[in-house]
Amino acid sequence: MKTIAETLQEATHRLRNSGSETPNLDAQVLLKSVLQCERSYFYTWPEKQLSLAQSSDFEALMQQRESGRPVAHILGSREFWSLDLQVNATTLIPRPDTEILVEAALDLVSQNFARVLDLGTGTGAIALALAKEHPEWQVTAVDVVTEAVELAKRNAAKHELSNVLVMQSHWFAAIPSQHFDLIVSNPPYIDGADHHLQQGDVRFEPHSALVAAENGFADLRYIVVAAKDYLAKDGWLVLEHGAEQAEELQRIFVEHGYNQIHTRQDYANLDRVTCG
Ligand code: GLN
Repeated sequence: MKTIAETLQEATHRLRNSGSETPNLDAQVLLKSVLQCERSYFYTWPEKQLSLAQSSDFEALMQQRESGRPVAHILGSREFWSLDLQVNATTLIPRPDTEILVEAALDLVSQNFARVLDLGTGTGAIALALAKEHPEWQVTAVDVVTEAVELAKRNAAKHELSNVLVMQSHWFAAIPSQHFDLIVSNPPYIDGADHHLQQGDVRFEPHSALVAAENGFADLRYIVVAAKDYLAKDGWLVLEHGAEQAEELQRIFVEHGYNQIHTRQDYANLDRVTCG
C-alpha cells in the first residue's frame, strides 16, 4: 500500500498534468476529506499507509478532479472566513479574494448595531461572515436564484446565524423601502468575451453569477445607482470587481454623488473592492 507522502506526490503530479492551478492544495484537500483529518496530519505521519478502502475512495475523487470538476463541487463544501459552507453548481464558489470585501466592510462599519444588505448572496458567504463577526447586526441576504436562496438559508442554519434573513429578490426588487448602513455585493462583473471563462473552475460555475453586459459593468453600475435610495446617511456601499475596473467604477461612484471613494487590493495586489 502507498504511504500518505507517496499518495500526495503522485496525486499532485497527476493534477498538475490535468491542468489544475493548485495541484498540491487540491490533492491535500481531497485526501484530508477521505482520511477525515487535518492537513497537519500529513506532515506528522507521512509514512502512514492508506488502507485499500481509503485508496479507492481517494482514487474516485481524483478522477473527478482530473476531469476538471472543482474541488468545492466534488466535496460539496468550501471554507470561507472560517465557515464551512455548503456549495453546489447553482452559485459561485466562494473565493479567498472576497474575504477582502468582508475585511473592508468590517473596517468601515464598526457600530454596535447595523442594518446590512448583501446583494446576490450565492452561498451566503459574505452575509454569513459579517453576521458571524457581529451577532448584533441585522443582515439581509438576497439572491434571484431560488436554489441559491435555499443554499444560503441552509448555510445560515448550519452555523446558527439567526441574525441573517435570506430572501429571494432580483437586486432591490423585493426589498421593502428601508435604509441600510452597509450594502455589499460581489456581483457578476466579467466581460462575456473574457478568455478566462474557458479555463479552470469558472467553467463549472453559473454564467449568471460571473458575466455582465457592458464589458462587465452593467450590474456594478446598476447597483451603484439603485443603492442610493437604500443607503442610510453615512452608509457604505462596498463592491467587488475585476482588477481592471477600479478606475471606471470610481468614476461611476463619483458621478452618482458618493464620497470617501477608495479601492482596496486583494492578496495578489490587484484592485478588487471599491467602497463609497
Ligand atoms: N473573481 C471571480 C473570477 O475572476 C469572478 C467573481 C465575479 O464575477 N463576481 O473568477
